[in-house]
Amino acid sequence: MQKFLRNIPPIHELQNHIKVRQIQEKFYVNNNQLTSFLQQETNALRNDILTGHWKPEHENGIEEEILSRVYRTIQQWNTPNLKRVINATGTILHTNLGRARLSEEAVKRVVEVASHYSNLEYNLEQGTRGSRHDIVEDLIMELTGAEAAMVVNNNAAAVYMILTAFAKNQNVVVSRGELVEIGGSFRVSSIMEESGAGLVEVGTTNKTHLFDYENAIDEETAMLMKVHTSNFKILGFTQSVDRESLVQLAQENEKLYYEDLGSGALHAFHEEGIGEEPVVRKILNEGAHLVSFSGDKLLGGPQAGIIAGKKSYIDRLKKHQLARVLRVDKMTLAALEGTFKQYAKREENQIPVIRDLRKSQGDIQEQARQFIERVGELEHFKLSVIDSEAQVGGGTMPEVLIPSAGVALTEKSVSAEKIEQKLRKHEPSVITRYYNEQLFIDFRTLTEEEQSELVYIVKSIDQQLQIV
Ligand SMILES: *Cc1c(COP(=O)(O)O)cnc(C)c1O
Repeated sequence: MQKFLRNIPPIHELQNHIKVRQIQEKFYVNNNQLTSFLQQETNALRNDILTGHWKPEHENGIEEEILSRVYRTIQQWNTPNLKRVINATGTILHTNLGRARLSEEAVKRVVEVASHYSNLEYNLEQGTRGSRHDIVEDLIMELTGAEAAMVVNNNAAAVYMILTAFAKNQNVVVSRGELVEIGGSFRVSSIMEESGAGLVEVGTTNKTHLFDYENAIDEETAMLMKVHTSNFKILGFTQSVDRESLVQLAQENEKLYYEDLGSGALHAFHEEGIGEEPVVRKILNEGAHLVSFSGDKLLGGPQAGIIAGKKSYIDRLKKHQLARVLRVDKMTLAALEGTFKQYAKREENQIPVIRDLRKSQGDIQEQARQFIERVGELEHFKLSVIDSEAQVGGGTMPEVLIPSAGVALTEKSVSAEKIEQKLRKHEPSVITRYYNEQLFIDFRTLTEEEQSELVYIVKSIDQQLQIV
């Protein structure tokens, strides 16, 4: 054993080893980092030898082992923890996979603003201090018809801020059927509790009448709130009160009427037969004083919470201490502006969320067919085109299933679990799902570029399986 230990080369020798030099160059490791990796790996190997966990099989075994351990460690150190994946689940707004991906235009704006100084809070006309609130406010007003608008960190923050600013130590009336829980973490009632607003639930889970609201209003009431039940839909015999009646009731009693829209569509998807999400403009038109919605759901932009509505309320929010706590950074504003601009220029089809939602099933089927042709014969599994149903995701349009299509992978000689794992552990990782008990790649959420990448990935995984 002592003989083995003596064969461990000294650090200074390893530092100059040609292979180590190559690794160092490949991964841009500086000398200090390299030394500490070499020390770490030689110590670990020494330990493994002493405890009998490892022993060399031939004369050069020790050096080879150190080199390969150093390579693995540095390679791991070099790969980011947050990395791109290929979303082959068909769920367009997959909360676990980062929700909306940004349009090219939005990404360009982010890169420019992130790598340079900007007029984030500087008025270039007057040479004086400016406000970051001004950057996208006009665009939101143009696109929604709102009198004023502002942006905070996310929609949960928007809800919290509105309740804190306007209903702290007072009451908010909400229909019992709307008290949603999203993804297990965001619960309107918990946010209300945190904000110090009292929750007055009215009606039953499936029926709420106007008189339920009327009876609940008193001098303690600050606000009537409507929450878009985005994560679940109560099917069957339901009744809710229409917006105009609620707005009128709020106005008669001089209360604030606020809607948490969850997703907030700017594009009229319902006119294309996709879901029933009302556009933000319509909700404001019908008299809502304030609305809030997410930036990275149906809007297709970065994580953000957008608040729009009456100027008097928005002005008070902008002056609130929480505006500073919940403010967004320049990269978010750049991405939002890029995204909003595409709506304003009627280029919304270049926003990936919208493009993916609008893809026709026929086109998707055709892409899946071509994919199978490009891959050709495989040794270990079989590919076939099947139809599927995709989801919007992100708690958006829960009841809406979009006809989609893709490729089922059926096993010949290896299990579906094995293939799923191989795809998931590939770089870039491919996230699939099971559809009708078959391992399935949904093509709705794949760009053409990703489809080409997948041709290569599927083939190489098949070959790797061969070696084993
Ligand atoms: C998604 C959602 C939220 C939370 O929005 P985030 O942007 O994720 O913070 C709040 N309310 C409703 C109704 C939602 O659907």
